[in-house]
Amino acid sequence: ALPSTLPSTDALRRRALDVLARLDAVPAEGHGVRARTPITGGSLLDLAATTADAAEEAVAAAHAAFLTWRAVPAPRRGELVRRLGDLLREHKADLADLVTIEAGKIRSEALGEVQEMIDICDFAVGLSRQLYGRTIASERPGHRLTETWHPLGVVGVISAFNFPAAVWAWNTAVALVCGDTVVWKPSELTPLTALACDRLLARAADETGAPREVHRLLLGDRVLGELLADDPRVALVSATGSVRMGRQVGPRVAARFGRTLLELGGNNAAVVAPSADLDLAASAIVFAAAGTAGQRCTTLRRLIAHEDVAGALLDRLTSAYGRLPIGDPFDDATLVGPLITGQAHDAMRHALDTARAEGGKLLAGGGRRLAQAAPAAFYAEPAIVRVEGQNGIVREETFAPILYVQTYRTLDEAIALNNAVPQGLSSSVFTRDVGEAELFTSATGSDCGIVNVNIGTSGAEIGGAFGGEKETGGGRESGSDAWRAYMRRSTATVNYSDRLTLAQNVSFL
Ligand code: NAD
Repeated sequence: ALPSTLPSTDALRRRALDVLARLDAVPAEGHGVRARTPITGGSLLDLAATTADAAEEAVAAAHAAFLTWRAVPAPRRGELVRRLGDLLREHKADLADLVTIEAGKIRSEALGEVQEMIDICDFAVGLSRQLYGRTIASERPGHRLTETWHPLGVVGVISAFNFPAAVWAWNTAVALVCGDTVVWKPSELTPLTALACDRLLARAADETGAPREVHRLLLGDRVLGELLADDPRVALVSATGSVRMGRQVGPRVAARFGRTLLELGGNNAAVVAPSADLDLAASAIVFAAAGTAGQRCTTLRRLIAHEDVAGALLDRLTSAYGRLPIGDPFDDATLVGPLITGQAHDAMRHALDTARAEGGKLLAGGGRRLAQAAPAAFYAEPAIVRVEGQNGIVREETFAPILYVQTYRTLDEAIALNNAVPQGLSSSVFTRDVGEAELFTSATGSDCGIVNVNIGTSGAEIGGAFGGEKETGGGRESGSDAWRAYMRRSTATVNYSDRLTLAQNVSFL
């Protein structure tokens, strides 16, 4: 069943306003930021952009709040995040509505995004009692050597359109329990979702007695992000987005010796070995490559299939691609929603043209759907392109559903192909051979931050550290010990003897 009807922009505006009213977050109209929906391409609301002066004031307020928040015991700080998690549970469907309206995600993925926010809140609450330091054996008698983690300061969060709420929660839930305060510059494409998140956190703060200024929201374009990058009161800039953005933000923050946590683009591959369960692999590949209309940082963009199974695998994939329901993301039958903008669609067309000019062969998809029903919306058929080698466009991340397919003979060759791109976010191997799986995940295997076996490249869960190497930026967020990026380490040596002993047996006086 191919959904062919789309809701009207008016209906989507009403739905968004109803949600905002329930959250007590209806914004005043203004100008500078336009809320729109990729479902129809229509405009929803005009909002006031944050001025440079107001942004300055927001950083000052967050900095002042930090000076008191850092002294609140961490488990008490956790109470704020626990309340935020409760409010997210209560308003899960509301927030998911805004994610679908502004980012175009299908219903189950939008709900999944809010679930991920709930999960990180739970994780951070646990963390609030586990910000462990170490005690280290001192070489000196009567001395104790310890390492303690202290709150860092204001965290500037810059986020992308494609996870308009979860990336904020990953950063904010952890930063808050670590004793930091947050100033958030969301994507200019998803302001309503940002207003809703900000409002829920403000409620949680009011209800738990935390200062409101632990969080401030800046609505506007990259200029506000640049302001965060340049402000010495912002101790850490956690920026999620394109490599282009990271190349600009990284050096600016480094110039003032600030810290960055960069979560940038990916160019993720899956290797399918001869022993793989091809049905399982095909299902995983279709979700990873076509899900979210190819607009995840972990989207599968390169398929490296063993030459003995490539044909059978491609038969399964082209047949599945031919049946993908594309259209209204609110329709439960839909699996592929719209691209975010016309520029995203232009980028997809350009990549397909370039791939063909470079000798690639289109095996499936690539067309546009629903252009008559909604000329300002861009619904693309996920595409599969057979390529030879990885020299041209295949090396780039095109933020759209294009899967480039190539074949390999030996696993070493497949690993080399996996690693031979500038990005290093996510990777997968499909195999039932333990030796192959272990090699792929070993030091001489995939060079990515995320290495999966028998699941696709996308859909990470809270608990593991998330991020990637090389041009992906090197940052790690959300799970494991990623919290350390949000704190500063202090090493203390305490002499509890009545003698002065110098290290390394140095004698003096
Ligand atoms: P984008 O780079 O266009 O924008 C991201 C954010 O950065 C926006 O808020 C934008 O206003 C801001 N920005 C842009 N240039 C800036 C500058 N010079 N200084 C300060 N701020 C600036 O990205 P997008 O199109 O919104 O999102 C898609 C990209 O994000 C893809 O490349 C995707 O792979 C990446 N992404 C990465 C992760 C990850 O965790 N690694 C997660 C989600 C998205």
